[in-house]
Amino acid sequence: MFKAIMLRKAEDGSTVAGIEMVDAVDLPEGDVEVQVAYSTLNYKDGLAITGRGPVVRKWPMIPGIDLAGTVTKSTSADFPEGSEVIVNGHGMGEVHWGGLAQVARLPAAWLTSKPESLSLKDTASIGTAGYTAMLSVLALERHGIKVDDGPILVTGANGGVGSFAVAILARRGFEVHASTGRPAESQRLQLLGASKVIDRAELSEKGKPLQKEQWAGAVDCVGSHTLANICAQTRYGGVVTACGLAQGMDFPTSVAPFILRGITLVGIDSVYASQALRNEAWSCLARETDRALLDEIADTVGLDDCIDLAHKLMSGQVKGRIVVDLAI
Ligand code: NAP
Repeated sequence: MFKAIMLRKAEDGSTVAGIEMVDAVDLPEGDVEVQVAYSTLNYKDGLAITGRGPVVRKWPMIPGIDLAGTVTKSTSADFPEGSEVIVNGHGMGEVHWGGLAQVARLPAAWLTSKPESLSLKDTASIGTAGYTAMLSVLALERHGIKVDDGPILVTGANGGVGSFAVAILARRGFEVHASTGRPAESQRLQLLGASKVIDRAELSEKGKPLQKEQWAGAVDCVGSHTLANICAQTRYGGVVTACGLAQGMDFPTSVAPFILRGITLVGIDSVYASQALRNEAWSCLARETDRALLDEIADTVGLDDCIDLAHKLMSGQVKGRIVVDLAI
């Protein structure tokens, strides 16, 4: 038996979240069993646990889109017993039991080897948020954005993806502007590497299709009017990445920034990204992560804290990353 958060669908369609002891015989199919050391609490996990978003597509469900741990049973030659591994996405916590449990069973094809220079806890502190931030920065660079082109905007900067995007861009030498609804946390953003902090209210209302050119690029975590205003303020030839919907799923814009300023909008998906892209992102993270900053970005909690914290996450009261230690 092992401890897990279990999500069950009530008769009225609502989500009921609780801590349960689960029998290992009920684990889903998979050629590898992992003793989970750490998981994390992401925005998507918050949506799943509180039932505020249609994340769960199979019931009952163990949430948790991230895990880091050690292989304890395996029929895979690539990941024998004792391998230290990371899993991000692949439908965990949506259609396959996820990481907010002491044990997980998965297809070996979903596993990434833990980079040597990072501990299991480091990889959880980084998690889907840091890996998505790195995918976003790699996408900006793949589309030609260079340090000398001008400032890069990061929205939702005090969140998990945003915090890592600020830190990664600053370490690569970019001038970073951070947009946040929590200006009281400006000092923290400056510590991560932002040279300018703006109030997210400046971007969150409906704006004109073309506005004063400001940024060479942007990493957007919030969508909706914010993403539309960013596109309208991106410099000629600039690149914007879109990974999130914290403000909304809508994208009320026009073609003007695309056909008059030649800007590019790049979609970022971490869940089903190829293994080649994952390996590239994780090897950059292993090389570039300032481990001292991980303590600044991540707080550690136990499984019993997660349900309350999921509600706080949904109401914007959590900053940075939450690492879940399955041994607490
Ligand atoms: P998070 O830690 O909860 O951060 C979200 C941040 O968005 C908040 O900290 C807040 O930043 C900002 N925000 C919240 N409500 C807002 C609103 N109404 N208007 C404008 N900004 C708002 O979440 P996360 O884990 O970093 O994820 C960020 C987004 O990316 C989520 O939508 C998540 O679903 C998405 N995501 C997508 C992928 C992918 O593969 N595409 C992967 C990971 C995450 P401030 O306090 O600084 O304003």
